[in-house]
Amino acid sequence: MSNIFDLSGTVAVVTGANTGIGQAIAVALAEAGADIAAVGRTPAQETVEKVRALGRRAEIVSADLSTIEPVGRIVAETVETLGGLDILVNNAGIIRRADSVDFTEADWDAVIDTNLKSVFFLSQAAGRHMLARGRGKIINIASMLTFQGGIRVPSYTASKSGVGGLTKLLANEWSAKGINVNGIAPGYIATNNTAALQADETRNRQIVERIPAGRWGKPSDLGGAAVFLASSASDYVDGHILAVDGGWLAR
Ligand code: NDP
Repeated sequence: MSNIFDLSGTVAVVTGANTGIGQAIAVALAEAGADIAAVGRTPAQETVEKVRALGRRAEIVSADLSTIEPVGRIVAETVETLGGLDILVNNAGIIRRADSVDFTEADWDAVIDTNLKSVFFLSQAAGRHMLARGRGKIINIASMLTFQGGIRVPSYTASKSGVGGLTKLLANEWSAKGINVNGIAPGYIATNNTAALQADETRNRQIVERIPAGRWGKPSDLGGAAVFLASSASDYVDGHILAVDGGWLAR
């Protein structure tokens, strides 16, 4: 019997693949059969080793996505070294915290450029390749703040609600052309990004009490959603943001 989650013979680009959610998604896609182009500022050596240990091919693609300068090269290098590009996971992201009344233009631009502008232009570059082949999967890592306002993170909230809008727009333009564009909204996931929150005893308790599942998510909790959205199992799913949040948004 064929497996609708099988990714054998596909190539996935994962940005921010050296750690956290990006590394876990790269490994999950590789476990399902994909070869991986691990994109990052910091070379994703550990991720590449984990993927190769699973018997899949993996290449490091060095790129700083605070500008859109590398997007064409990321696609070209992936196609050249791994022979194609079937799946793009836009995961790289940063956050800056300050009261809105004090928020600086530098913190606005840094977050919007990495989390939103690069997501669009890398999707465009990958989309051109996918459109020419008539198939592809794009998965944007969104956030609970795609749906909620948050506090003291204005550029992050703007970027992640923008990612939600772009996910729907690109699905509208490309779903009839064989490309599924969807997103994943992680809840509170224990990574470097959230280390300060985990270390703050009071905040940590408040967060855990508020999560219906009663615990932080692990990066590996995102793997199943990523494999689903990368596989033929999701061929009729378009413009959807799948929350993987232990029930946070349901509350
Ligand atoms: P981490 O901080 O652990 O990892 C972020 C990744 O993004 C790193 O690989 C980092 O690379 C990469 N990155 C950042 N800036 C750039 C850049 N300019 N160019 C290339 N790569 C860059 O965070 P998480 O794993 O927690 O987050 C991954 C994604 O998930 C982000 O988009 C985040 O917004 C989202 N998310 C996370 C949640 C959580 O609770 N953890 C909740 C909701 C959404 P480097 O190490 O080199 O800086």
